[in-house]
Amino acid sequence: MRQLYRDIRDNEKGSVIIIVACAMVLMLGIAALVIDVGVLYYNKVALSNAADAAALAGVQELPKDHGKAVETAEAYAVNNGVEISQVAAEVLPDGHSVRVATSRVVPLGFAKILGFSSTKVTASAKASVGSTRGLWGAAPFGVVEDSFVFGNVYTMKYSPSNSEETGPGNFGALALGVRGADNYVNNIMYGYQGRLEVGDEIPTILETEPGNMAGPTRTGVNFRIAECSHEPKCTYDRFVKGCPRVLLVPIIDSLDVTGRNGVILTGFAAFLVETVVGVGNVCEVTGKFIRWAADGDLGNINDYGVVSYRLDS
Ligand SMILES: [Zn+2]
Repeated sequence: MRQLYRDIRDNEKGSVIIIVACAMVLMLGIAALVIDVGVLYYNKVALSNAADAAALAGVQELPKDHGKAVETAEAYAVNNGVEISQVAAEVLPDGHSVRVATSRVVPLGFAKILGFSSTKVTASAKASVGSTRGLWGAAPFGVVEDSFVFGNVYTMKYSPSNSEETGPGNFGALALGVRGADNYVNNIMYGYQGRLEVGDEIPTILETEPGNMAGPTRTGVNFRIAECSHEPKCTYDRFVKGCPRVLLVPIIDSLDVTGRNGVILTGFAAFLVETVVGVGNVCEVTGKFIRWAADGDLGNINDYGVVSYRLDS
């Protein structure tokens, strides 16, 4: 009987050793697995971040320069810790999107037991550029649509909405939000505090501000010019995002209206003001149209220079 107990006890000892051994192997395995998963996750995040940054950098060269878009995207990926052999950028056939794929082979620890010594981790991102559908802070100038050349000097002539002197290069005062000269000047100085959005199927109608607004226009634009506190002053080649000298102007179909009337909003342009001159009912604003990135949704609308970017990871 005593011998039987001893056998059982010895057997139990052996079983415990086996269980402990199995548990240790299992625990070490789990620890190694956790490390593998952690390493893979770390690499996935790093590759995704690099792809996002690269796509957003590259798309800023579109639609103008496909080659530079690819080159810039790849350079940004490298700056974000990805080797050049691990990144591939391309401009998609629409000409408005960049896709960036990043990948790297990651060595494994635990999975070696299962026969996998390494695995490939991949990530990709696509960034698109399009004209901005809507924005806040517009100046109350309705600029008649035209094919503006970026960087060329334009003199925009103020036209009262009931003037016969209307046509391309002219702008008329708009009543954004509230009617009247006080609100008009405020909208020039600080930008319209509401949001303007180009209509898809139903056109967005803006109301003109009748009367001679040349004086208030000069006051407002001079304020914007003086508000540029950047040194040296902003120019076409080098301007600071958010500079008060950049007017976001609504583009409209026509100024061929009389009195207080409706005009159709067709898009947005950005105008870097250089000078404002004129006396009496004459007001001429000289400057250059620029390309301007604004926060907002991409619209399938006319591109007058104000664009937005969208990132799809
Ligand atoms: Zn400035």
